[in-house]
Amino acid sequence: MRTLSPEEQALGRCDFVHSHARARPAAAVLQLPLSNPFFRLAPLEFVSWFRFQFRIPQLARIANANADGVEQCIAGCKDRNVDLHGNHAHSGICKATKRGRGLRHRLMKNVVCYHAAKAGCIPSWVTEETAPDLLLDEFTVEECSTMFYTNPTAEFAQRTHEVLEALRAATSLPQDQRAARLAELRGSLRELMDSIKGGHSVRPDGTILHPASQETVWFDTAGTHTTCKSHLVAEHKHTLARRAAGRDGARMASARLLEEYRIKIDRYALLAAIAERQLLDGMRPVAPLVLPVVVSTHGEFCPGAVELQEWLVEKYRLRLLLEGPRDDGEVPEDLTACFRRELRASLLLAMIRGTSASLNAAGLPTRFKPKATLIGPPNP
Ligand SMILES: [Zn+2]
Repeated sequence: MRTLSPEEQALGRCDFVHSHARARPAAAVLQLPLSNPFFRLAPLEFVSWFRFQFRIPQLARIANANADGVEQCIAGCKDRNVDLHGNHAHSGICKATKRGRGLRHRLMKNVVCYHAAKAGCIPSWVTEETAPDLLLDEFTVEECSTMFYTNPTAEFAQRTHEVLEALRAATSLPQDQRAARLAELRGSLRELMDSIKGGHSVRPDGTILHPASQETVWFDTAGTHTTCKSHLVAEHKHTLARRAAGRDGARMASARLLEEYRIKIDRYALLAAIAERQLLDGMRPVAPLVLPVVVSTHGEFCPGAVELQEWLVEKYRLRLLLEGPRDDGEVPEDLTACFRRELRASLLLAMIRGTSASLNAAGLPTRFKPKATLIGPPNP
C-alpha cells in the first residue's frame, strides 16, 4: 500500500485535490488582458472565485456559521454545510444555485458562437423546433423527441460506436463494394433505432457552419465540478497518477472531466451515425463533427474543447488569409495566437461568472438575490 506524503497527510483525503501535476508547481491560476471588457470581473465575482480557488472560506452572507465556521444552508437542503470547496454550490440540489449554473451554460454557448462568427462561420442554436434540421428534416419533431437515449447503456453506446466507425470506414470503399456494405450498415442502424424504448430527444446546444467548405460542427457545452464528493475518490486516485507521471501528468485531464466528455460522446453517437449515413446517401457534403465542450471549475478543458478551439483557429486563419494584408500590419500568426488565447480565456470567464454566481447564492432561499449588500465581514 502506498504511504501518503507528509503534504497529503496534512491535507487528508477529505475534499482537497491538487489540480496541478508536480511538473508544473508554479502554474499560473489566471491571466487575462483587461483591455477586453468581457474579462473584467465584478468585485463580488472576483472575490468569491479566488476564495474558491485558494480554498479560503467565502465571505459571510448568512451569518449562521456553526462551531467550525461553516455557514448553514437555509434553503431546505438536507446537507446544510455550505463548504468552502463549492460542493454545496455545485450539488445541483440547492435551488438558489440554479441561476448560476444556467448563466454558466448560457455564457459558454455565447462564447463559442461569438468566436465562431469571428472566424467567419455561421453559428446557430438548436431548439426543440429546429432539432429536425440537424438531420435534414428526415424525421419529424415528434420522431426526434423519442428516438434517442439521453444516457445510453454501455452496451448500446458500444454498438452505436461500432456502426458509426463502420459507416466512416465505408466512405473509403471502392464504389462497387460500397452499395452492398451500405445496405448492410443501414440495416444495423435501423435495428439500433428500432431497439430504443422510451427514448427522448437529444440535441446539441448549437451548430457551426463554415460556408466555404460546408464543414459543420455540432457542439454541446457543459461545466463540471470535478472535486465534488461523488467524484472525489476517482479524482484523487487519478491525481496521484498524474503527479507520479511527472511532466506527462501535466497533459493528463481530470478523470471526471473525461467521464463527462465520454457521456456526451455516447449521447450523440446515434445522431452522428445517422448523419454519417446521410453522407453516404449523398444527402450532405460532409459529416458533422460532434464536439462536446466540457470545462471544469478548476479550469481544465476536455479533448472536444481543444479540438473545437483548433478547428475555429484554423477557420479564423483561413478568413485572415482570404482577407489579405491588413492596414494595421498585423500578421495572421499573431492574430490567430491572440484568437486562441481569447477563446480559451473567454470560456474560463464564462465558467468563473457562473461558478461565482452559484457560490454567492449557495445556501440562500431562491427569493433572495445575491447582492453585494448581503456581504458582511468574514467569520471570526
Ligand atoms: Zn442548500
